[in-house]
Amino acid sequence: MLEAINLSKKYGGKDALVNLNLTIDPGEIFCLLGANGAGKTTTINIFLGLIGPTSGKALINGTEVTEKKVTNQLIAYIPEVVQLYGNMNGLENLEFFSRLSGYKHSKSELTALLHKSGLKEEDHQKKLSYYSKGMRQKVGIAIALSKKAKVIFMDEPTSGLDPKATDEFTSICKELASENTSILMATHDIFNAVNVGSRIGIMKEGKLVHSTDTTNINANELQDLYLKTI
Ligand code: ATP
Repeated sequence: MLEAINLSKKYGGKDALVNLNLTIDPGEIFCLLGANGAGKTTTINIFLGLIGPTSGKALINGTEVTEKKVTNQLIAYIPEVVQLYGNMNGLENLEFFSRLSGYKHSKSELTALLHKSGLKEEDHQKKLSYYSKGMRQKVGIAIALSKKAKVIFMDEPTSGLDPKATDEFTSICKELASENTSILMATHDIFNAVNVGSRIGIMKEGKLVHSTDTTNINANELQDLYLKTI
């Protein structure tokens, strides 16, 4: 579903991403770990089509990301804080953003999507300005569901979430993966990466230096590997 082929990015001669080769299958959750500045966001931004690579290719479902019209249909993005309109409620935000992606859902379909994303019914009609970070992310998930995204990119989605909200978010990610959605998540949360990820990559200075299946490693071992690596 996702493929990076010798993907590289330089900023003013300085390497931000160096020859990344990566394949992520349908239903896989790939967690990217690495110190600040390791190249995680650069990788995501290239797949989102926000920046172009200096060399190499990023493919989504076999189509190069430069074909934005095709690839945009397949993807959704959950940033650290999901940006929504504060003067609209959750349901209205969901309707607005799904329409923007070309979908027209009925009110009952939108309500069902918010339920699936884990947002409590009593919160659907509350203005966004009252929402916590975790609630915003649930609306972000519902937006991804509304456009039937096949791939969701996430940049530090659990940073600042309390353990219960992180656990809820993790369960939703796993449910999406069980329905064949692929997820590429940049995170600093080693424990959660082991918990949610099917595979984990560690980046250092723009290079993917380790990649492992989570069945082969527990959180303590991953922490040791991470600290030795970075
Ligand atoms: P963090 O964990 O802090 O989010 P990251 O792993 O996501 O870090 P990137 O944001 O991908 O790291 O940055 C990779 C490198 O590219 C860093 O050296 C950073 O300073 C550099 N960089 C990123 N964006 C730009 C830019 N717009 N202009 C110049 N350099 C940039």
